[in-house]
Amino acid sequence: MRRKLVIGNWKMNGSRAGNTALLSGIVAGLNDFGADCAVCVPAPYLAQAQTELEGTAVAWGAQDVSIHASGAYTGEVSAAMLLDFGAQYVLCGHSERRAYHGESSELVAQKVVAALAAGLTPVACFGETLAQREAGETEAVICGQLQAVLDVLTPEQVAKVVLAYEPVWAIGTGKTATPQIAQAAHQFLRARLAQKNAAVAQNVQILYGGSMKPENAKELMAQPDIDGGLIGGAALNPTDFLGIIQAV
Ligand code: PEP
Repeated sequence: MRRKLVIGNWKMNGSRAGNTALLSGIVAGLNDFGADCAVCVPAPYLAQAQTELEGTAVAWGAQDVSIHASGAYTGEVSAAMLLDFGAQYVLCGHSERRAYHGESSELVAQKVVAALAAGLTPVACFGETLAQREAGETEAVICGQLQAVLDVLTPEQVAKVVLAYEPVWAIGTGKTATPQIAQAAHQFLRARLAQKNAAVAQNVQILYGGSMKPENAKELMAQPDIDGGLIGGAALNPTDFLGIIQAV
């Protein structure tokens, strides 16, 4: 039985004062809703997340990681540094990193490897653009993105990865994938995982991301292959974020 997981992706939002209000609101409102929960914060706020979340039921993580361990890589943040601040999760290959920073599927796969090597849980993100969906390429696109990761991991490593299906056309647009569309993509991804290892495929959590809100979360998360959510906009408001977790 896979546990549900809800992760907030703050993207490039936040301030020290605002973060305290958001985090304390989440911690105060969190009950045993039956799901794990985490926030992926901008790297400068990892120390704050550690201070304010340690000992609570909310885990924290980052939004990107370097493939390098250390050295002359200006601006990069290593997996060991994230771990140093108690991070548990790191997003790898979010569509905004792929689109605005030219991250290839091969680079994303190396980021997954770097995260695993440090003991972090990578959240590997996949998804098609609207043009790709309309051209009937959804399965080919997400299959290629997943395959790049599977190619560099053993089944034991795959078991430690979280996947996120995030159709690019649904991110930040208010256009959520229907539960049927999302379930079809999740089922497809799990079937591809099963080609690598059937037992592992049954245990890997696959999150849905793309304009998830308290109002649509319940139906999405009721789908058999949807194991939680990766939440952008709604993760910036404690009531909305808690509402999604509660929908589990
Ligand atoms: C995201 O950025 O991962 C995301 C799902 O954003 P939103 O919920 O705002 O669509």
